Amino acid sequence: MKEIIIKKIYIDRKVKDRSFTKNVLNNLPHTPLEITDTAPAFSTAQGKQILYITDYKGVFCKPCPGTSQEYLCCNYQVINETTGCPLDCAYCILQGYMDSSVLTVYANYEKIFEEFDTFHNKYPQRIIRIGTGELADSLALERYTNISSLLIPYFRMKKNVFFELKTKTNKIEFLAPFAHKTNNLVLSWSLNTPQAIESVEFKTASLQERLQGAKRAQEMGFKMSFHFDPIVHHENWKENYHRTIERLFKTVDHRRIVWISLGGLRMPPDLKPIIKERFPETPIIRDEQIIAKDRKLRYFKPLRYEMFKHIYDTIRSHSKDVFVYFCMEDKDIWQKVMGFSPINTNHVDYLFAESLFRRFPEMGLPKPEFDYYQSLDSIHDPAYEKRI
Ligand code: SF4
Repeated sequence: MKEIIIKKIYIDRKVKDRSFTKNVLNNLPHTPLEITDTAPAFSTAQGKQILYITDYKGVFCKPCPGTSQEYLCCNYQVINETTGCPLDCAYCILQGYMDSSVLTVYANYEKIFEEFDTFHNKYPQRIIRIGTGELADSLALERYTNISSLLIPYFRMKKNVFFELKTKTNKIEFLAPFAHKTNNLVLSWSLNTPQAIESVEFKTASLQERLQGAKRAQEMGFKMSFHFDPIVHHENWKENYHRTIERLFKTVDHRRIVWISLGGLRMPPDLKPIIKERFPETPIIRDEQIIAKDRKLRYFKPLRYEMFKHIYDTIRSHSKDVFVYFCMEDKDIWQKVMGFSPINTNHVDYLFAESLFRRFPEMGLPKPEFDYYQSLDSIHDPAYEKRI
């Protein structure tokens, strides 16, 4: 994949002397910079080459915003350590709802540790999955910000926690110092067919590059996860997803894969005109979609079912045991594709925990009890909300 270029750095005056800021400037010694009292604003395309360093005023660690009453979630926790992404996926939700499109990183990242300590201490028996990559690609800016390198040493000390970095890049050499001694780090790739990558995931690594990155992660002894999300309907999609999954399992050992998610293309209706304007040729605006129960545009259910079933069966033909789940799907889809459905989101959380406990005994995880997971608060945990 091509090098990510930063054309200008804006620094919030309040953070200009912080060590985080100085480190970024060391990594970008020749990039023009400006000290500012107001957040810069640029168009989506321009903003992808502008870096802004400031303090984050909200809460870094939150329940995954994918939660909707109508669909099963999984109680995943996200860290918004960066907002804005230099990659350019046609379906990216950030195009529609970010106030400003500049790449924003936060000098007060250490607040993440306080927030997570509070959450973690509250649940000593719980197996927690948390990760970056919700409002950005986890690794696309790593070379400049080193933020993952700052977070890994903290999370690797946390018991019963899986820390996930999600990417569509192949830049993982910075992880070499953590190789073979970080057993709760999960390197995660969003995967798609080469045809979908070429037509909708611009500026990202090719499938071959992503798989090479995964191979390297395996050599370094990390666990891995993969997200077929969004699954995109396109010509010959059956054959293309089949081949992609075959290549995945030829490249990595399925015993090192902690989980695989499946999610269909979905978007808020007001994103469609933005996509049309920015990517008039993209096939994803031509397919027929309906407004679903969560007010998002989705493929019709029979098509979703057909795609999920095909991909799920292909994965299962390679691994009977890897944990596969749907990101934000209804119980009916679970039932039809997998032959069972969790009763609620806490049940999905329990199934994750049960699989991790059983498949990775060397981690000494607490044995998950169904009743305990059912008794947990809603994922909108008051421990986070209180600190906003
Ligand atoms: S990698 Fe993720 S955050 Fe970045 S443009 Fe693509 S969808 Fe958006």
